[in-house]
Amino acid sequence: MKTYVVGNWKMNFTVGESSIFLNKLLHKVPAYRDIEVVVAPSAVALQPLSLQLDRRKIRLAVQNFYYRDFGAYTGEVSVNQLRGLVDYAIVGHSERRHIFNESDKDIRQKVAAAVRNGITPILCIGETADERTFGETADVIRDQLLGGLSEVSKEDIDKIIVAYEPVWAISSTAGAKMAQPDDISEVIKLIRSTLKSTYGKEIADEVPVLYGGSVNPSNAGAYLTIPGVNGLLVGGAGLIADQFTDIIEVAKRVQS
Ligand code: PGA
Repeated sequence: MKTYVVGNWKMNFTVGESSIFLNKLLHKVPAYRDIEVVVAPSAVALQPLSLQLDRRKIRLAVQNFYYRDFGAYTGEVSVNQLRGLVDYAIVGHSERRHIFNESDKDIRQKVAAAVRNGITPILCIGETADERTFGETADVIRDQLLGGLSEVSKEDIDKIIVAYEPVWAISSTAGAKMAQPDDISEVIKLIRSTLKSTYGKEIADEVPVLYGGSVNPSNAGAYLTIPGVNGLLVGGAGLIADQFTDIIEVAKRVQS
């Protein structure tokens, strides 16, 4: 399976800055066949960046979209409108769940819309600090995973990616701390076993599972060597070209 390195730029960079940053990455990132490098810029930068892209090196993801394909939904962008621009779509990021109150229903409709339109959803799941303290991690993970995938058929399950992002380890949240590989490993096992019992072993093994939360070049190797982890979802370090490309190099080293 490929290793994924996904940079979520969140609401950073103007269109011009995005273009300059992408150009820097295109100069630094080799075309690795077994590493899939993806960046998720602001929606407004997707169209110009898609023209500038070398898809052998880097692919684009959208950070958010509306689940209907078209219609009277002022202010929204559909995943149908993003066809040809992006290959991936981040769905259910904790900032969408907790700041914008996205519900499990919104998220499962978005996952289904992405699959319907041939765009791979990266379904983000993860418990908050309080949920972890109260011992609710396993329930939250199972609910978010099965809830998010509830409209995805067995035939389509190989078209999705899951990203485990403990909310307490995402640096943008107040008081975030670094997750230890042992903390993550338990949850990855749970994600894999939940996928297995729902979709069968062979199919479940095909689903890439990523880790995200304060990833940087120094910890990337430790996270990537956790059994069952197939890549990284990177926030802050993805906004610094050298750090992002160093993480890609670590992924390459771990794989070979
Ligand atoms: P971080 O963000 O790497 O800055 O913690 C990760 C994310 O929110 O996807």
